Amino acid sequence: MPELPEVETVVQGLKPRVLGRTIESAAVLWPGVVKADPAWFVKTVAGREIADISRRGKLILMRLDPLLYLVFHLKMTGGLFTPAPDQEPDPHVRLVFELDRGERLFFKDMRKFGYCMALSWSELSAWPFYAELGPEPLEIGPDEFVNIFQARKGRIKSLLLNQKLIAGIGNIYADESLFRAGIHPEARGTELCQAELLKLHRAVQDTLRQGIEAGGASIRDYRNARGEQGWFQTKLQVYSRKDQPCPCCGETVRKINVGGRSSCFCPKCQPCKD
Ligand SMILES: [Zn+2]
Repeated sequence: MPELPEVETVVQGLKPRVLGRTIESAAVLWPGVVKADPAWFVKTVAGREIADISRRGKLILMRLDPLLYLVFHLKMTGGLFTPAPDQEPDPHVRLVFELDRGERLFFKDMRKFGYCMALSWSELSAWPFYAELGPEPLEIGPDEFVNIFQARKGRIKSLLLNQKLIAGIGNIYADESLFRAGIHPEARGTELCQAELLKLHRAVQDTLRQGIEAGGASIRDYRNARGEQGWFQTKLQVYSRKDQPCPCCGETVRKINVGGRSSCFCPKCQPCKD
């Protein structure tokens, strides 16, 4: 699933191509993608200008003028991109926007978990998923980060994935951050001392920033706004490296299940608390 760095890369890539463009028309190629009546969606978005694009957690927000928000969640396999001028939508393209001056925007999603909703400001503010998102990990300071996790009994891996506590981190960046901080994925928040949480704060920020600099990690289907791969997958130290040697100590990387999610870690660099 695209995480914060992948979604940020898509947003930055789209900005020069679609900001200030007017949506002339839209075509809903699979009705489930808009979570509303497709005819209403098409009629409602037409004629509005894309005034801003931003990211919140793993969501892409497009602010339209007159005011309306398009909220995209890429979920497992979603992609939002501007196709080549002669490119026809393939069978996995669910939504097409025709913009002025010949630009187009495709929302592609093989697995169909992703969506695009058109919401007013009050609808967006009242949407629980959005309203309950935790702070942005790249914007919070060390003290706030420590406060979020130190009193929690949950496993640190699950806590990092909880979008209500901190927004935008998924399996890749959680595993990589825990490795860098030397913390076992099953450690409980309450078991971690301040120094360990401060190290984790630094590790999370460094990992996410490096992910953004690398244009994201292209595991499975992720592509940026121009259809290109990122290269953070070549920098992964434990994620998806089960049974391979730890790049730090040579110990075999293990994969366990924590709270229903697979977690790769090095048993030597990330010793168990128990
Ligand atoms: Zn190791």
